[in-house]
Amino acid sequence: MVWSYTASRSFQRCQVQWLLGSMAGHHKAADPIRRRALFFGKLNTVSAWRGQLVDTIISSHIIPSLDDPLNEEPMGFDASRHAARGLFDKQLAYANQHRAAKIDVKLGDEGDRFALLFENEFGAGPTHEALDQAWSEIEVALRNFWENDTIQKILHDAVQLITQPRTLHFQLIDGAKAVAIPDLIAFNRGAPPTIVDWKVHAEVGNDAQRQLAVYAIALSRSTQQADFPDDWNSKPTDTNLYEAQLLLNQTKHYRLTAEDIATTTAYMDASAYEMNCLTEGKIYKDINIRDFRMAHSGLSCAACAFQSICPEVVQ
Ligand code: SF4
Repeated sequence: MVWSYTASRSFQRCQVQWLLGSMAGHHKAADPIRRRALFFGKLNTVSAWRGQLVDTIISSHIIPSLDDPLNEEPMGFDASRHAARGLFDKQLAYANQHRAAKIDVKLGDEGDRFALLFENEFGAGPTHEALDQAWSEIEVALRNFWENDTIQKILHDAVQLITQPRTLHFQLIDGAKAVAIPDLIAFNRGAPPTIVDWKVHAEVGNDAQRQLAVYAIALSRSTQQADFPDDWNSKPTDTNLYEAQLLLNQTKHYRLTAEDIATTTAYMDASAYEMNCLTEGKIYKDINIRDFRMAHSGLSCAACAFQSICPEVVQ
C-alpha cells in the first residue's frame, strides 16, 4: 500500500474503487480482472483528459524548453499550441480505436499517444461539441499560462524547475510509504521553493489548499535529489504554494500555518492508518474485496471507471 492524496480521495469515495485502482491492476496477472483493472484505471472523461493534456504540454514541452540553458529559442504560445494540437489529435485517434475492456498492450510501449476515454467505453463516444469545447479550453488554458504575470514571474525567478512526473517519496505514520507528484516545484536562490498546481476547471474547487499542503509536507520530508539546489530550504510554513486556475486566469497564493500542517498531517496519517488496517500488509490476491466499503449511491458507480469489473456495483 502506497498512500497519495489522490488515493486518499478515492478511498473516501469508495474503498472498493481505491482497491481496484491502487492494488488490483497488473499487466502480467493471471486473473483477467486484474489485467482489465490496469486499463480501466486509465480511463478519463473528455474533461479530465483535456486537463491532463494541458499538464503534459506544460511539464513535458514548455518547462523543459525554458529550463534548457542551450535552447536559444524557448517555446512560446504558438509552439505550445501546435504541440498541444498534435497530442490532442494523436491521443483522440488512439482513444477512438481502443477500449479498456479489450486492449492488451504494454503501457511503456505506447508512448504519449496512449489515451482511453470514458465516453467511448460506457457511451456512444464524445460528441463533436464536447471535443470542440475541450480543444478551445486547451487553447484558453495555454494562452492564460503565457499571459499570466504571476506564473511567468515564478518561471523567470526560478533557478531550477522540477515538473511532474517527478515523484517525492516520504513516510507517514508507522512508516507507511507515501508519494506526491507536484505539477511544478520552482527552486529559488536564497529563498524558499514554490509549488504550483495547475487546474483546468471551469469553477474554483475547494480542495487545492489541502493538496498543496500535502505537497509542501512531502517536499519537506523527501530526501535531497541530485538536481535540487544545495541551499534549498523546504520548511512547509515557508514554501510558497500556488493554485493556478488556467481556464479562469487566476492564481491563488497560500502559505501554511503550523495549524494547517498539523491538520494536514493528521488527515494523511488517519487515511494511511485506515488503509493499512484494511489491507493488513497483504498483497491483492490475499485480500477479500467484500471487506471493503462500497460507494453509497448508484450515481458514484455510474461515474466510476471500474463499473464493468466491480463485484459491488450499485445499479
Ligand atoms: S462501481 Fe461503485 S462500488 Fe464499484 S468501485 Fe465503482 S464506485 Fe465503488
